[in-house]
Amino acid sequence: MNNAQLNELKQRYVASGAASPATAFAERAENAEVWDADGNRFIDFAGGIGVLNVGHRHPKVVQAVKDQLDKVMHTCQTVMPYEGYVKVAEKLSQVTPVRGHPKVMLANSGAEALENAVKVARAATGKNNVICFDGGYHGRTFMTMAMNGKVAPYATDFGSMPGNVFRAPFPVPYHGVSEDEALRGLKMALKTDANPQDTAAIVLEPVLGEGGFYPAPPSFLEAIREICDEHGIMMIIDEVQSGFGRTGKLFAIEHSGVEPDIMTMAKSMADGMPISAVVGTDKVMDASGGNSLGGTYTGSPVSCAATLAVLEVFEEENILGKSQALGDKLASRFESWQNAFDCIDNARNMGAMAAFDMVSDKANHTPDAALAGALCKKARENGLILLSCGMYGNTIRFLMPVTIQDEVLEEGLDIIERCLKELT
Ligand code: PLP
Repeated sequence: MNNAQLNELKQRYVASGAASPATAFAERAENAEVWDADGNRFIDFAGGIGVLNVGHRHPKVVQAVKDQLDKVMHTCQTVMPYEGYVKVAEKLSQVTPVRGHPKVMLANSGAEALENAVKVARAATGKNNVICFDGGYHGRTFMTMAMNGKVAPYATDFGSMPGNVFRAPFPVPYHGVSEDEALRGLKMALKTDANPQDTAAIVLEPVLGEGGFYPAPPSFLEAIREICDEHGIMMIIDEVQSGFGRTGKLFAIEHSGVEPDIMTMAKSMADGMPISAVVGTDKVMDASGGNSLGGTYTGSPVSCAATLAVLEVFEEENILGKSQALGDKLASRFESWQNAFDCIDNARNMGAMAAFDMVSDKANHTPDAALAGALCKKARENGLILLSCGMYGNTIRFLMPVTIQDEVLEEGLDIIERCLKELT
């Protein structure tokens, strides 16, 4: 079927909240390139959506999946355990910077991991409240939507949400929230609303993802660690987007040296196969017993095989080093654009988790979400998949495979430069 035929089916059968506004249907993909149903080629600077740090269909992962399909495709972990699950658990326990001796549970999506992380935090502390941050994004289940800060277009109007979720400011000095102010806001949230005796967890992304790729300063993370220790609150670090090598370390929190009680991860874990994990200190993870952390498909054997292959690729192909080098290349190109274009304002990167903001008035940093949208649209028309994000909708973010070939990278960056010239 071609794009036109598929679009007709989409209009007729796909729920509007689930339908992509894009009209080119992905048919095949390799590393950082995707071809649509009409045979058009796209360079993928979105990496699926931050899922493909080792590239579309990495041969080693494809082989591991094929091998697993020949053995067992499904058994429910809670009914009959299998090797892949315990091996992934062993590996994640060894590589995550969680306190003490970490134990692991697997799930299918980022939001599910967050749901379970909060579940174990509540079980371990006997407390209910959760504090999250402005600009944070944690998923589209009811609880995670309650946890999300204001991140267009996910702000919702579905009525009241379950759970006692309170919010604190995330430090974005660039938009007038200093680290001190953010910390004061957090302490105030604890004092006035959440109450330390009732608060089970403080949940944050070490680098805001959907909220605009702002890294949390290490001292801010340290201060949260101290607050959590003082009040017996679980520190939950959401690495769904920042984890698995994007920032030049396996997990972004490693840049700070802070050890959380619980971590969530998903996206680039299995090169696109659905899987997520909660990794937490053993005492905490074991607090929610009685078969409470499973599900029919959680940690499927096929996704586990893909995860183990991804971790091998990390070692064999120096993905962390490549992520750092890619980040450096992006940063230098951003700098040249900042000098050349009035609409390009603040640029930032932690490894290859890189972004810049688009503005209508550089002196006042006035966000220009419309221009960011126009750039993404024009890029798509020119064969480049590019995404915007951010609390103000004006951030252009870069999530291409870390394995992208140099010439494909340059081609994609040149498309952006041409589009910027045409738009300004
Ligand atoms: N947490 C973060 C930091 C994310 O970026 C996302 C997705 O973008 C999620 C959670 C939700 O993950 P999923 O879409 O797999 O439910």
